[in-house]
Amino acid sequence: MDYLAGLNPSQRAAVEQTEGPVMIVAGAGSGKTRVITFRVAHLIRKGVDPFHILVLTFTNKAAKEMRERIMSVVGQEAKNIWMGTFHSVFARILRVEAELIGYPRNFTIYDTDDTKSLIRAILKEMNLDDKLYNANHVYGRISSAKNNLISPQEYNKNEAIMAEDIANGRPQMGQIYMTYAQRCYRAGAMDFDDLLFKTNVLLNKYPEVLHKYQHQFKYLMVDEYQDTNFSQYLIVKRLAAVNENICVVGDDAQSIYAFRGANIQNILNFQKDYPDVQIFKLEQNYRSTKMIVNAANSVIEKNQNQLEKNVFSENEDGEKIKVARAFSDNEEGKIVAEAITQERALKNLRYKDFAILYRTNAQSRAMEEALRKINVPYKLYGGTSFYQRKEIKDLIAYFRLTFNPNDEEALKRVINYPRRGIGDTTVEKILVAADQQQYRLWDVVVNAHTFLDGRSANAVGNFGLMIQSFQAVAKTNSAFDTAMHIAQHSGILKDLYEDKSVEGLSRYENIQELLNGIKEFSEREDIEERGLDVFMQDIALLTNDDNDKDPNADTVSMMTIHASKGLEFPVVFIVGLEENLFPSQLSLNSRSELEEERRLFYVAVTRAEKKLHLSYATSRYRWGTLNNCEPSRFLDELNPACLELDFKPRSTAMETGGSFQSERMAWKQKDTESYSKPKPKIVKTTSILPKAHVPTPGFAPSDTSVLQVGMEVEHERFGFGKVVNLEGNRPDIKATIFFKELGQKQLLLKFAKLRIV
Ligand code: ATP
Ligand code: MG
Repeated sequence: MDYLAGLNPSQRAAVEQTEGPVMIVAGAGSGKTRVITFRVAHLIRKGVDPFHILVLTFTNKAAKEMRERIMSVVGQEAKNIWMGTFHSVFARILRVEAELIGYPRNFTIYDTDDTKSLIRAILKEMNLDDKLYNANHVYGRISSAKNNLISPQEYNKNEAIMAEDIANGRPQMGQIYMTYAQRCYRAGAMDFDDLLFKTNVLLNKYPEVLHKYQHQFKYLMVDEYQDTNFSQYLIVKRLAAVNENICVVGDDAQSIYAFRGANIQNILNFQKDYPDVQIFKLEQNYRSTKMIVNAANSVIEKNQNQLEKNVFSENEDGEKIKVARAFSDNEEGKIVAEAITQERALKNLRYKDFAILYRTNAQSRAMEEALRKINVPYKLYGGTSFYQRKEIKDLIAYFRLTFNPNDEEALKRVINYPRRGIGDTTVEKILVAADQQQYRLWDVVVNAHTFLDGRSANAVGNFGLMIQSFQAVAKTNSAFDTAMHIAQHSGILKDLYEDKSVEGLSRYENIQELLNGIKEFSEREDIEERGLDVFMQDIALLTNDDNDKDPNADTVSMMTIHASKGLEFPVVFIVGLEENLFPSQLSLNSRSELEEERRLFYVAVTRAEKKLHLSYATSRYRWGTLNNCEPSRFLDELNPACLELDFKPRSTAMETGGSFQSERMAWKQKDTESYSKPKPKIVKTTSILPKAHVPTPGFAPSDTSVLQVGMEVEHERFGFGKVVNLEGNRPDIKATIFFKELGQKQLLLKFAKLRIV
């Protein structure tokens, strides 16, 4: 069978061992994902029905790529494999079974914004201090409870948990969780964690459903198994219990999601769960040069907690790893941008051969700015998804309400957008009425005259009638016609059309883009169900990478290290290697957290195929203030023989092969003479706002800026210009700016990305 020729003997053995439990724990780049891909193709070649195969991946993108490769071996049949992320696969199953557990089939998936907005509303109702009960913190706590399969009832009964909350000064947490769960239920909505939690409830409570899927999925495979949480672990275990044809692959050294409840023990315990497991070792790294593999090994061996693994490469030795030092984050951006241009020309590479990886999303700003300045095309992964834009969310909220009128977050979002005279007080009255009578918001809306009086009752009643008319349209029309009807009759199109600012125009274009996407969907011939409700089903689970219109575009990739898991690029830049940034300040309290940061660094290093660049800045803006930074300890941990410094070290110890430790010491002694370069200019002015702020250099939405008439600014896209007028009140201040090249434009400051020059 020649399609297995591209595998080494251990990989091939793992592919051919199709029956029984199989585990592959192996280092980065050793072909784990490749084994899963070939294994699926092999199963189908052997005659297994693709409908009987379930493959769980970490991202939608990984699933898509895998499916394409399998398709090249087995053809169109690959479309029928059940393959995707845990969330997307189990959302699909829940759509079929939801009614059993009391949810409508058209249940809404609440995204992070919806979840936080609901939590905030509950905190407000309960009169809780939102500093103590910070919405992010509350979300994290609820999420962690769900991922450990602790229901609100169990949470409130569990003395240890309650004691912990009391000790942390948050005794109401159990009640918040209870109310949160009730509200989601009342709204017919599930949040991301519910997709796994409710699947567990379903499989636990309904043996006949469990039985059905146990027999449906005769073969199960899970990639990146080291990052599964308890909830995911249990779903897999339950589904595999009958046939035990389960193959998991992973690398304990790449476990980087403990902060989201991933449990490295799942991989360590696999042997206990399946005593007759067949274990395959993959030791050869096919991805990277010897230099990169050696450097990666030298880092990860510093972790105490890890499985013994041997990783080697037979690829070329490769170039040394370049380390650059910049005096600021902006200079770091410049160094990276120039290195990309040079290396691309020198080695005849494409832009898409390069990736820039960082620890936090905020670091992308300096990189983007530098790349833009010298016209290097790039794509930001994991940034705001198209579907997260305000105007898109507004229109989608109407779609959501049409199919699930109980969706309370959608209702609150658009009941008065576009404006229709339903003020905050009226909304408040609706909320109170619903709460007191234990009604759903929607019931109050359609019976507005019972609960409200006069004009507001009419306005709310009319809103209800409008949604009902959308429901009628949706019943008999295509996805596109329904969407178009809603966009027009909700008033959204008109509202955006009337806003003639540049931002207004781009929002209008985004809505058109969404409608175009729906049109394409309406016309697809490869699926039977093409209603708007079907189009809507997975939208909350999409990331911006899934909306990639041109995945083959020649652009530099930029993403966080977390998002880079499983990927590879010929040339990789890891930026911001500074103490308190990477390793993150939050990780310095315990060994286990520091080890997770080190694994993250290991993941980053092992993304590189041919060449790796590392860099750090000695000063950086964080939260609006300029901080001095020390080089990261991870630089010290790399085998010095693998490194090539791009600068003259300040400490002589380092010149003789010493460490960044001494570089750090030298920095601490404020050896500033080599730091005489100018620091970024800080502009101080009096403010049109009540309080003066010091603006952060760089482009940022300007709602808190200190902009004044007469100031010179630079816009992200329009270039340099001068402020000629400011009007309106916060947060809707509009600036009229005369741009050198484009002439006069009016911008809404809260959206405009401006920099004061
Ligand atoms: P990670 O831990 O980063 O997810 P992985 O173990 O999943 O890595 P893969 O992505 O499957 O590794 O493989 C790494 C690279 O090596 C890929 O480009 C893959 O095509 C290539 N590769 C793996 N095995 C072989 C092989 N036997 N022959 C040629 N190339 C291979
Ligand atoms: Mg992989």
